[in-house]
Amino acid sequence: MRIRLSFLRGLSRLGTAVAFCVLPWLNAAGMHGVSGSLFSLDVFGWPFGDPAALVQTLAGGGRPGAHFLLGVGSSLALAFLLGRVFCGWLCPYGLLSEAAATLGGRLRARPRAWKVPARWELACRAVVLAAGTGLAACGIPALTRLSFPGSLSLAPQIACYNGFDGVFFGLLAAPVTALLLEFLTGERLWCRFVCPQGLLLGCAARLRSWCGRWSRLPLPTVRWEASCCSCKGETPCAAACTLGVQPRRKDGPDALRCSICGECVSVCARKGRALRWKV
Ligand code: SF4
Ligand code: SF4
Repeated sequence: MRIRLSFLRGLSRLGTAVAFCVLPWLNAAGMHGVSGSLFSLDVFGWPFGDPAALVQTLAGGGRPGAHFLLGVGSSLALAFLLGRVFCGWLCPYGLLSEAAATLGGRLRARPRAWKVPARWELACRAVVLAAGTGLAACGIPALTRLSFPGSLSLAPQIACYNGFDGVFFGLLAAPVTALLLEFLTGERLWCRFVCPQGLLLGCAARLRSWCGRWSRLPLPTVRWEASCCSCKGETPCAAACTLGVQPRRKDGPDALRCSICGECVSVCARKGRALRWKV
């Protein structure tokens, strides 16, 4: 039986989301192997941290602890080695965003007529990161407010320990608004134009492709055979990418923007087989 990649990805992200929903109650019952949220997570003694939270701490003049630094280092090292797998395979907001944008796109009478250049995407996210850093320097914790994976994973903890109070609904207000916008536009606006976490993880992923010595390590990426012409001018692989990335590039999709989700490879497998995993 052939298991579809999108099913596995859905399962992985749904599993992550469900795990964060039940984690506080498991912790309260005495299970402490995994604890924390996607701001700062501890998995059987190994930490993972949100890189944007580190930027905010440093900009605000704080001194991050060694455990937190190791956690952020782990997240960036994972992105360096495997690309933005967190976005494609684990992020709970990524799951909801992909579902909202895909559903919204299918319900639209006409496909979108506009296409935003990739450099605008990156410029928007760089401006958000710079503005968040500036606000953090003024004592306003804007970057953590923009961390939707962090907010979504922290909300169940608030519900468990404080009940469904104003903080709980405050954490969910921005992600729910963004999801509504993504449903209406059929575009993954947050992940493409705002998310500072995705930008920092993408920078780590692109660093690998710049490091010639490291890029020869057997690491996963998507490879395109330019000789294939089975699609006759169509690009179903690019259409399958909800992040608007062009996978038909000789040196692989842009590591800064690609979430290693593999949807383009799955679509291509039913057409010309010009895209393959390269490990
Ligand atoms: S870009 Fe941000 S919100 Fe989107 S999937 Fe990646 S970490 Fe999650
Ligand atoms: S280029 Fe392919 S693997 Fe990368 S995000 Fe787009 S669909 Fe996923």
